[in-house]
Amino acid sequence: MNTTKLRDKDLEWADYALISAMSIQRKSATDVIARCREANVKTIAGGPLFTTDYEDFVDVVDHLVLNEAEATLPRFLKDLEAGHAEKMYTSDEYVNLQKTPLPLWELVDMKKYASMNLQYSRGCPFDCEFCDISVLFGRRVRTKTRDQVLAELDSLYSRKYRGDVFFVDDNFIGNRSKLKNDILPAIIAWNEAKGRPFSFQTEATIDLSDDEELIQLMVRAGFSSVFIGIETTNEDSLSECNKLQNKNRDLLACVSKIHKLGLRVMAGFILGFDNDPPSIFERTSAFIQNSGIASAMIGLLNAPRHTKLYQRLAKEGRLLGEETGDHMDLAINFIPAMDYDTLIQGYKAVVRRIYSPPAYYQRLKKFLREFKPLQIKAPRLRISSLKISYLQALPRSVLLLGIIGKERLHYWNLIFWTLFRRPRLVPLAVTLAIHGFHFRRFSESYL
Ligand code: SF4
Repeated sequence: MNTTKLRDKDLEWADYALISAMSIQRKSATDVIARCREANVKTIAGGPLFTTDYEDFVDVVDHLVLNEAEATLPRFLKDLEAGHAEKMYTSDEYVNLQKTPLPLWELVDMKKYASMNLQYSRGCPFDCEFCDISVLFGRRVRTKTRDQVLAELDSLYSRKYRGDVFFVDDNFIGNRSKLKNDILPAIIAWNEAKGRPFSFQTEATIDLSDDEELIQLMVRAGFSSVFIGIETTNEDSLSECNKLQNKNRDLLACVSKIHKLGLRVMAGFILGFDNDPPSIFERTSAFIQNSGIASAMIGLLNAPRHTKLYQRLAKEGRLLGEETGDHMDLAINFIPAMDYDTLIQGYKAVVRRIYSPPAYYQRLKKFLREFKPLQIKAPRLRISSLKISYLQALPRSVLLLGIIGKERLHYWNLIFWTLFRRPRLVPLAVTLAIHGFHFRRFSESYL
């Protein structure tokens, strides 16, 4: 439904509709369930939203197939085939990912996506108070085998997909020794043998910066960027949310080191911790500017159901309801320690500042100055493998950012600066300028 509309005729022929969603898609999922009921199509729901909030859907969904599908979906299908499917299927088991089948990529129109997904691991060894990963997937990191990962890459490749592949792991580096000794060397060999058709992105924790060898292997394997939860620069807030891996370190130096080794950092920040001082807004903007992190996502703290934060706030009588899952909609599902208006005004000021053209383009230069991508022979570009949208990106960016946009002076300044100082990085500079435009438009629509 990100790429196509659900039409009535899609429902007319269907025996069942299988619905999966994350909490940000709650409204859309609720609407789809209502439409299915109207069309007399039975619904089968599973995935994170339904697993954590099944009480909200038990009266409107025909079958809830919860937790990890590898454990519950086969049981449901067996019962369905035998004619006695039950209302709800749950499991306490954290499944063995080595049983996970290959995705059926033929069901997806890949041309409509900016990147494809590959999940190598589930679970995270850390236990941040606001995060529900440990509830959903546990703290023991479970991984697929090297052969599974290569089979998934082969499957994308054989369907002629080229471009970005996101490793959608909760924390890609949860099991470092397996990555270093098994998975990354295999991906390096695969990617090189195929002429580097893919560029990878993933999510990891800041302690990645402690392991130079791991970063270098990731870069050689074709990883271009990594999303890191930096969350806050305030040590007391890090203690409060149990983000201990971020404590007692020079976070700016960590980001800089990762950039210098050839991985671009994208990062998440959170405002609204009990321990946030009034200076947190200024400190957060300054950190983002000084870090050169172009893609900085800033959210207000919220408490997803079943997290330790949710339990603490309930005990303290501060919960106001359920989170929306949308961390930019200015909603907070608890009474914050800071005055609410001060928090919202401060939040808006940070978002406005970091995506204003002068700040954003200045940050891009800081990043481009220190970023040292791997020196490799560029793969031969085959026009047939490029998506039309990529071919249109340059002229459109010139028109929208360089001619019409209010940032046009900054845009051309960046392009010429990069052309003279870091000519190899011009395509990246254009890409990041486009990202900035997206972030600015997106955040303006919220603010
Ligand atoms: S490190 Fe990330 S995935 Fe792991 S518990 Fe903390 S927020 Fe969740």
